[in-house]
Amino acid sequence: MTSVPSLVFNTDFDPQTGAPVAVIPGLARLTAPNASPYTFTGTNTFLIGRDRLAIIDPGPDDDTHLAALLAAIAGRPVEAIVLTHTHKDHSALVPRLRATTGAPVWFEGRHRLSRPLHPFEINTLSRSCDWRLVPDRVLKDGEVLSFDGMELEVIATPGHCANHMAYALKETNSLFSGDHVMGWSTSIVAPPDGAMSDYMASLYKLAPRSENVYFPGHGNLIREAPRFVQSYIRHRLGREESILHRLSKGAADIPTLVRAIYIGIDPRLVGAAGLSVLAHLEDLVARGQVVTDGLPSIAGIYRLA
Ligand SMILES: [Zn+2]
Repeated sequence: MTSVPSLVFNTDFDPQTGAPVAVIPGLARLTAPNASPYTFTGTNTFLIGRDRLAIIDPGPDDDTHLAALLAAIAGRPVEAIVLTHTHKDHSALVPRLRATTGAPVWFEGRHRLSRPLHPFEINTLSRSCDWRLVPDRVLKDGEVLSFDGMELEVIATPGHCANHMAYALKETNSLFSGDHVMGWSTSIVAPPDGAMSDYMASLYKLAPRSENVYFPGHGNLIREAPRFVQSYIRHRLGREESILHRLSKGAADIPTLVRAIYIGIDPRLVGAAGLSVLAHLEDLVARGQVVTDGLPSIAGIYRLA
């Protein structure tokens, strides 16, 4: 692991919100006007194809974004609406786009938790999840879709949430990474909507792949993507090491761990950081390195095994 670069984020990005931006031949990006601490400059919607289109992640249910998307589609037939996952900032526009274009929606399967809810536990992400959306076609890991002469390989990448998928655009050596790998920030992995063991397995799944450019669901594209994935993995392993180190020094609860590890964090993201630490702790408990009384929870007391 000596040649793995440290994780460097790229937050220098002008999304040109509302205007379609040509990314590579046959691919355009249209960023939605939903910028926030969680969505950065807003959700990226992608249009694949020239004469016939596939749309990846229509984005939030927003009138302006729908109008901009229909203008960018410019009357061309839409063969499918493809989703990376069913968080509403990616999927909430589906019903209106489907009604307008007649295109079917394809994704992994209905939104579900990564593990059952524990007694008295609350899914804090529940309001962000698109529970009701049902796929017109269920996609399977490894299948290849083709649109207007372009081929899209389906890659199941659970972890950010259970139904997350990435899509490799075969001819161009590039990949749509959704919220699994992003260039501006780490991904949110918040139990029980997401799970760290799945998330890490999905990073290790992408690591040996050849695609050099990733198009994430938020922010700018990622160049030298295999190196970036390696640094993403190392960052998570480093966080895990920090948690183990702090536990060895006597920290025993999640708020203490967050204060010690996330120095200078945006106060609006403290809740998300707590859930991320919980995600790591769940994984460490499952692997027998950390113990807690009962099921791992946000209010739990933890110690090294
Ligand atoms: Zn998401």
